[in-house]
Formats: sequence, C-alpha cells, structure tokens
Amino acid sequence: MAQLIDTYGRVHDYLRVSLTERCNLRCHYCMPESGIPLLPKKDLCTYEELLSIIDRYCKLGVRKVRITGGEPLVRKDAHKIFLALGERPVELALTTNGLLVDRFLETFEACGLKNVNVSLDTLQPERFHRITRRQGLETVLQNIRQLVDDGYRVKLNMVVMRNVNDDELVDFAELTRKMPVTVRFIEFMPFDGNRWDSDKMLPAEHIRNVIAEKHPLLRDIDNPNDTTRHYRIPGFPGRIGIISSMSEPFCGSCNRIRLLANGVIKNCLYSENETDLLTPLRNGEDIEPLIRQSILEKNKQHAGMNELSEKPGRSMTTIGG
Ligand code: SAM
Ligand code: SF4
Repeated sequence: MAQLIDTYGRVHDYLRVSLTERCNLRCHYCMPESGIPLLPKKDLCTYEELLSIIDRYCKLGVRKVRITGGEPLVRKDAHKIFLALGERPVELALTTNGLLVDRFLETFEACGLKNVNVSLDTLQPERFHRITRRQGLETVLQNIRQLVDDGYRVKLNMVVMRNVNDDELVDFAELTRKMPVTVRFIEFMPFDGNRWDSDKMLPAEHIRNVIAEKHPLLRDIDNPNDTTRHYRIPGFPGRIGIISSMSEPFCGSCNRIRLLANGVIKNCLYSENETDLLTPLRNGEDIEPLIRQSILEKNKQHAGMNELSEKPGRSMTTIGG
C-alpha cells in the first residue's frame, strides 16, 4: 500500500485532527484572554468533508487518528464524528480539557475509543481559574476518575511553567501512586499570543531533578515514535512522562500530520508552511498529490526554524497540540 514517507524516510501514519478552533477554557499559555478570531462556519470542514479527508489519509496508511481542538467536545456534531471514526480501521485517541467528558461516555464506548489525554495544569481550584480563566477543576477531576474507573488509558498533560505551577511537580507525580495514569510534564512552548518567555520554560532535566529529589525515577519503555520519555516510581501503578519539545527535540521519529478545522494541513507543529485541502476538495479536485507534496516538503527538525523561541504564526488552539 502507498505510504506517506518524507525525504528523511519517516513514515507518516498518525493524523491529528482539530475538530474546532473553539474552546470553553482560555488557558493563558494557549490563547489570549479575548480568545482568537474565529473563522466563519463556511470556511470550516463539514462533517462530510472532514470524513472524506480522513478517509483519504487512511487509504495512504494512516493508522492512528487523534481528535483534538480547540476543545473538540464543544463541536456540535462531535458525537457523530466519533461514531463514524469508530467504523474506520484506525486506533482512535482524544485530547481534551476534560470538562465535557461525562456527556460523551456512551459515545466513547460505542466508538471503541481507548486512549484519552486530559489537560490538567494544577490541582488547586484558584490556580485552575487563574490559568484557564474559567472554573471547573472539580468537574475535570471527577471526569478523570470516571475515565480511569471505566478502564480508559488515561494520560494527564501538565504544561510546566516557572512560578505558575512548578511547585506542583511532586503533587502531580504523586497522582501515579493512586491511579494507573501516565502523568506527562510538557515543556512550555512559544505560540502566537501566549506570552511565552524563556524564563517561564522549565527544561526536562529540571523537571526530572525536582521529582527525583523526592522519589527514585526508573526509566521506563517508550513506544516507537513516542514524543515522551517515560519513567516510573517503584511500586506506583502509574507512569511519568516528560515531553521535551524545546530542550531535547524528538523530530527524528516524527510520524505526525496535523489537519486543522478549516481543512488546512500542517506537516509540523512549528510549520509556517500550510496546505489547503478544503478548497480543492470542494472544487472536486484530487487532494492526494497535495497530501504527498506536503509530506515531501517536511523539514528535518522544528520546521527548519533556527531559534526555538521563534513563534509559529498561530495559537496552539487552532493547531491542536
Ligand atoms: N483543548 C484540548 C486540551 O486542552 O487538551 C485540546 C487542544 S490543546 C491545544 C492540546 C494540548 O496542547 C494540551 O495538552 C495543551 O496543554 C497543550 N498546549 C497548549 N499550549 C501549549 C504551549 N504553549 N506549550 C505546550 N503545550 C501546550
Ligand atoms: Fe482550550 Fe486546550 Fe487551549 Fe486550554 S489548552 S485554551 S483547553 S484548547
């Protein structure tokens, strides 16, 4: 079968699909307080268009689809999209802020979803409000517990920021004592409108050291193409992961393609180079040559940027992480 292979020999079989630019939170590391200018509905993929693009990727060897956003669960036809994807020959995964998970449990079960990543940057209600500019910590925690009880493979994503939440590293590591979840610490990355500065970014090595002062950290197995380095605290059922996109990039094994809600694809999270699939699809053109060209144009590392502090001209909420 024809696969999507770039000029560095990387096979691209993992599609991350942003369902919407909208979000019910306003995390300050992700988007400005006022939100982002939203595209008119006519410029966004309909259910049929989205499925048509995803099906094309499945024919080209995509084996894993992650649903993300914005907050994917705020999209009105999200239930229908999950159910349709459940019929595709792909491993399904979801990244969510967790607020609406309780309304989707039946759908998740029906579509065979197993992998759910929930973003959670603090265990303190007031701080949750400061970071997300909204309320809801207790709902998110309840939903995480429900997912764990129901047997989902749950990962918690914490964006680590100096003087914002770095005093909670050990508290988060402690979650792996009680729950069989993977707690992932993510280095803070620069994006349009997110007030990034290098002082706020805490490198992976610092994160490891802070936790290792309290608990022995054993190196654990990583999967191929994993962006995460895994560790375990002996005797704890959960795992710890550290995602070092900034200090120790992992581009060598990248297998990811990103499809945005407006039908644009990005061949790298950092890429300025975008390919519109929606207009040609609406014009009845074959989108496969564009899909292939986009993969061939992929750079070796970080979209060819020299300085990691350069910001891609989009906020994270439009790309989906
Ligand atoms: N709304 C969903 C959520 O929050 O999980 C999905 C979209 S969100 C953009 C996807 C992931 O990107 C989240 O785990 C979030 O923490 C992460 N993220 C957003 N901005 C980031 C930044 N500046 N640096 C590192 N990770 C970031
Ligand atoms: Fe919304 Fe997720 Fe961005 Fe937070 S990180 S503002 S929940 S898209």
